[in-house]
Amino acid sequence: MREFLGLSKISPRICHLLQEIGRVGKENAQSVYVVGGFVRDLLLGRENLDIDIVVEGDAIDFAYQLATIWDGEVQIHQKFKTATVTRLDGLKLDFVSARNETYLSPGALPSVEYGTIAEDLRRRDFSINALAVQLQPDTFGEIVDCTDGLHDLRAGRIRALHEQSFIDDPTRIFRAIRYEARYRFQIVESDQQRIRNAINRGVLNLISGQRLRNEIDHILSEASAPQMVRRIDQFNIFSALHPTWKISPNFNVLWRAARQAIEWGTTSLPHDPINTKAILWMTLLNTPEAIKTVSSRLALESQLCTKLSVQAQLEHDLNTLSASSKPSEVYQLLHLYPLEPLVFALMQPNQPNWRGEQIANYLTHLKDVQPLITGDDLIQRGLKPGRAFSDLLWQALAAQLDGKVPTTQEIYQFLDDEK
Ligand code: ATP
Repeated sequence: MREFLGLSKISPRICHLLQEIGRVGKENAQSVYVVGGFVRDLLLGRENLDIDIVVEGDAIDFAYQLATIWDGEVQIHQKFKTATVTRLDGLKLDFVSARNETYLSPGALPSVEYGTIAEDLRRRDFSINALAVQLQPDTFGEIVDCTDGLHDLRAGRIRALHEQSFIDDPTRIFRAIRYEARYRFQIVESDQQRIRNAINRGVLNLISGQRLRNEIDHILSEASAPQMVRRIDQFNIFSALHPTWKISPNFNVLWRAARQAIEWGTTSLPHDPINTKAILWMTLLNTPEAIKTVSSRLALESQLCTKLSVQAQLEHDLNTLSASSKPSEVYQLLHLYPLEPLVFALMQPNQPNWRGEQIANYLTHLKDVQPLITGDDLIQRGLKPGRAFSDLLWQALAAQLDGKVPTTQEIYQFLDDEK
């Protein structure tokens, strides 16, 4: 039976764009489709502005034609025969040639050849992602469903398109888990078994650190990350990636704290660049042993590793503060740490209010205090750089942080008195 996408589901602006693309397809005598996540989400009533267009033929040439009409910019990815057009209104559309892929070895990126839309859809990961909608004027809106994706979408099922799917590309294991939790669907039982078998065969060892890391980054930023992480753990994926990798039984609490930390950081520290991914990774990696081994397996950047590995020391240092610690004592301890572990520590539940206030005061105020006197000022007063010199500078800053010396004049007086 022919099924059509209800046009009322698409916003008029997007509908107009898709019709324009269809008209160019007709002029070129090329079939052209919108595919993948856009179609899936539209059918589920969710907005998705990731628009992937598949052209039967040369997508790069096609993208140039649209870019000319829209006065947009084109970016070419020759290796994958794809192009991205960025319109003046900022909307980006990806154009891909319908293709046929073969996997030369499990876990590797596939080799690519031109193909038909049916071939293109069959090479995809799951039936719910293998739906296309025709864009040419005479068939506009007709759904192309070669893999029974509509049926699975309506039944809430995640189903891979062939038996070897998780072996050919083990990142699909993460993708299946992601869709399952995001849409509250179920991975079909036979695929759950295939996932277990693939993991037992060691396929995860075949994925590069970078690809694994991308998948986990993606998961950590989803609203249902706790359910996804629990599911990954149920499949024993973390321990298969490294035996030292254990997920905290408090993961949900940690993850909520991380989300609050990101929100607090972006609103309260708008001028400080905060690596939000680093904060999210703190929920997954928190023992020194796991940080070391997993970072190396996932090729995490050394800057990120540092941010992760100071967590235990920070917790220890925070325990040395008391409600009566002076701002200069808080500064002395906290200025050694990157922002991310501090913002994360701020949001930890079950800590005394005064501790949160100290960390927040450090982050929003103390860390940005500009010293009233600098080394140059001391040199001009005839002092020579050295240990005593640094001590003086610190005493001056500490007095300033503790509110004892609001002016430069008073700071010199204070230093003279301290001698
Ligand atoms: P999300 O909403 O999570 O971004 P998406 O469906 O838009 O999901 P993308 O990663 O943007 O996902 O991929 C676009 C489409 O490309 C998918 O819908 C799917 O059809 C196909 N695809 C992506 N990754 C794979 C893969 N590893 N194997 C096969 N097909 C894939």
